Amino acid sequence: MALTYTPVDDIPKIVQGLRSAFNANLTKSLEYRKQQLRGLYNMLSENEAAICEAVFQDLHKPPAELMIGESGMIKQECIDAIKNLEKWAANRSVKTGIVNKFDNVHIRKDPLGLVLIIGAWNYPLNLLLAPAVGAIAAGNTVLLKPSEVAANTAALLTKLLPSYLDQRCYRIVNGAAAETTLLLEHKFDHIFYTGSGAVGKIIMGAAAKQLTPVTLELGGKSPAFIARDVDVAVTARRLSFGKFFNCGQTCIAPDYLIVERGIEDKLIEAFKASIQEFYGSSAKSSSSYGRIVNKSHFQRLKSLLDQTKGKVVVGGETDEEDLFIAPTLVTDVEKDDKLMEGEIFGPILPMIIVDRLAEGVKLVNQGDQPLALYMFSKNKKAIDYVLDHTRSGGVVVNDALVHFIVSNLPFGGTGPSGIGNYHGKRSFDVFSHERSALIKSMGMEKLNDLRYPPYTEKKTRW
Ligand code: NAD
Repeated sequence: MALTYTPVDDIPKIVQGLRSAFNANLTKSLEYRKQQLRGLYNMLSENEAAICEAVFQDLHKPPAELMIGESGMIKQECIDAIKNLEKWAANRSVKTGIVNKFDNVHIRKDPLGLVLIIGAWNYPLNLLLAPAVGAIAAGNTVLLKPSEVAANTAALLTKLLPSYLDQRCYRIVNGAAAETTLLLEHKFDHIFYTGSGAVGKIIMGAAAKQLTPVTLELGGKSPAFIARDVDVAVTARRLSFGKFFNCGQTCIAPDYLIVERGIEDKLIEAFKASIQEFYGSSAKSSSSYGRIVNKSHFQRLKSLLDQTKGKVVVGGETDEEDLFIAPTLVTDVEKDDKLMEGEIFGPILPMIIVDRLAEGVKLVNQGDQPLALYMFSKNKKAIDYVLDHTRSGGVVVNDALVHFIVSNLPFGGTGPSGIGNYHGKRSFDVFSHERSALIKSMGMEKLNDLRYPPYTEKKTRW
């Protein structure tokens, strides 16, 4: 499906329309918000086949991966928000001293206003619509900017959305860097961006000009530590799932392995076995394996493979026409290898072998804080050691990726892997303003005498 970019002259009108709709209080009632969330849910339910097809066109994404990593999760976020909205949006009373004993003192959860959500291509539904659930639930008007790189999904959402969501309050603008740059000249009340750190800096710079708060969901090199004591077969299976899901194009995919010396040969065999189990003898003909999103990302990954000084022990096959890169494991990778420079963001898994986990900790701490960190071990002391001596957005012990779908765990990075977090109630909070409120009655005026001038000696004696 062809994606038409929004004419740049339309952008100011769209922004103004959404601003007016917010000012007219259209999004304030909880019933209205729930109705819109039901609309979003229905859009996903009633158009499953078309959505599957569009995301397949963009990423060759297997329907099961779409369900687990995108549509199923967004639908669950809608259900949770609808179910809990009254509770989330309720005023919260605070304790007061004697002076405010007769007042109503509380925190309101007010919407921020008009918010902008900018999505990335690798989970083109989730990264746009999961934050939108929080923004709608919190009572904002919302401008969505899908990634133009996943063009089929963006085009389909643009077609579907008007039938399910109130167009006065929720709109899509399509485009690439030029259109987004224009968009960023407008005043928003929050910008929620998912994508690379390089563009994150541009977004934050533009937001700073208007003092607009931001949430930045970025990336990084997420390491997986593997201690000597692990069950090698289970570890390889869970890591193969985490790494090769969506063809490695996942912000929290294990980027590289730090393996304690002694188990590497067994681990390689276990990876071969799990890849065979998941995708058969040819990942290329497996309906469970995705593709690289486009030629430029394919060439970037191919060039990493060509330049590595490590040894490819599993996979390594590529086909540019088909944008196919096999699930690939590279061993004997050194710290200064090409594969260790930036986030890989594809199905290539380098393995660094260390004598002690402490070496791996040192290596991780020499780089930026990653978005996720994985630790595989049965030994509590070793687990605590790695967790206590590293920093990362999130951490999972003995599995990979799965924290993303636990809605009560705030998801986000730290330092260069991101600012802020979301999912579940946290998404509602991100798009809400905690407005302090003190409601006094007109009575009890005598009590106020103490603070009014003239400040006689009696009044100031404490
Ligand atoms: P992308 O190319 O889809 O870009 C993201 C968004 O930024 C798009 O909507 C795009 O139109 C916009 N954009 C691009 N250039 C711009 C510019 N100059 N000015 C303004 N807007 C611009 O995605 P990407 O950047 O390739 O995403 C991959 C990165 O995102 C990886 O680093 C990955 O780890 C990270 N990521 C993070 C998360 C997370 O939840 N933390 C999720 C997915 C991806």
